[in-house]
Amino acid sequence: MKKIPPDLFSNQLTGIDSKDISLCKKIVFASFLEKEQLMKDLQFLWEKYTLDLVLKIIYLQQLKSGFILSDPANYFKAENQNSFYDPDTQIRFLVQWNPERALRKNHKILIKRGIIKEHIDTNALINKDKKGKACYLCKKNIDLQNPKEIVLPLKLDEELFYIGANFASISDNHFTVFHHQHRPQKYRKKIFSIMMDFLNKSNGVFRIIYNGLAGASIEAHEHFQTTSIRFPVESIKCSDQNIIYKHKDVKIIKPDYYLPLWIFEGKKESKLICLLDHFIRYWHSSKPYEHTENVLGIKMDSLFRFFIFLREKSKLKSIEQTGALATFEASGLFVFSEFLTRKIRGKSGKDFFSSLTLDIIKNMLKGIAPSDNLELDTMMKIFRTA
Ligand SMILES: [Zn+2]
Repeated sequence: MKKIPPDLFSNQLTGIDSKDISLCKKIVFASFLEKEQLMKDLQFLWEKYTLDLVLKIIYLQQLKSGFILSDPANYFKAENQNSFYDPDTQIRFLVQWNPERALRKNHKILIKRGIIKEHIDTNALINKDKKGKACYLCKKNIDLQNPKEIVLPLKLDEELFYIGANFASISDNHFTVFHHQHRPQKYRKKIFSIMMDFLNKSNGVFRIIYNGLAGASIEAHEHFQTTSIRFPVESIKCSDQNIIYKHKDVKIIKPDYYLPLWIFEGKKESKLICLLDHFIRYWHSSKPYEHTENVLGIKMDSLFRFFIFLREKSKLKSIEQTGALATFEASGLFVFSEFLTRKIRGKSGKDFFSSLTLDIIKNMLKGIAPSDNLELDTMMKIFRTA
């Protein structure tokens, strides 16, 4: 069982009435065998408090019960993290050594930790792929296979989703939000209204991520990721010259970056969704099977900000890592583990991690930049008529 540092506990519970603290502690220390009562207690809290607070309590419970493989406290240890400040973009890139992330591929350990149940009736599992593996994001399969996982139903823009902690967490309060139906990870206009609804419901405390077909590990089931950390790219240098469209409080910004990055910001949801949708559809239209994107959505006070990184399906991996790079990396947070890092020039993953430099980080991003780009003039015309 994971220990919870006292400061983590008190930080996460800020904003809870003192009379409800004991209920929060009861939830955090509850066993999965008391799941029915635990769900009732969570429901009670959710009626009284906001989604972000409820999620933080669920995350602590999942950490305490051992469902989450790596303790976020490990990320803050000096030997497991480093950062590189880039004066050109004003971004401080973060790199994390997270060996436990590789364990998510180790079935035996997942069974030992109780993350996956040992004996299950495989005939009862639904939506199997060609290899016979059942979809990890179908609620029915989670109920059968993952006894420790707490999954909360969540309505977003009138559609039913579920939210559950990511057992191979990269960052604090890292969750997956997935549709109640087994529907493919394919862009649709509602993607943005769903993201905005989540940002509203979680008070801007949580960020939301949508990986098109660039780094989404489960392409058969629509999902998002969310976390409460601030991403390095959020501090990117933007000057007035980078603003390519402005109408009332809506702005489209094209800052200098190592990947094609477009930032859409504004308060009016319908106008933003309209511009974002025109943009994504135009990008997809020239090469529908090749062009895709990573999206990071944040909310500051009443202002939404969407970071769109253009990607191509044939350029998902950099030479340094075996896994596809997705929104976390595009947003400036790189995670390394033995399994994911290629042995370069005979170096182990940890040696490679220790020898990282700003130039290597920049080259990793440049290495996954698409070969096609969008013409600024064409896009300005499209935005004006949207
Ligand atoms: Zn599914």
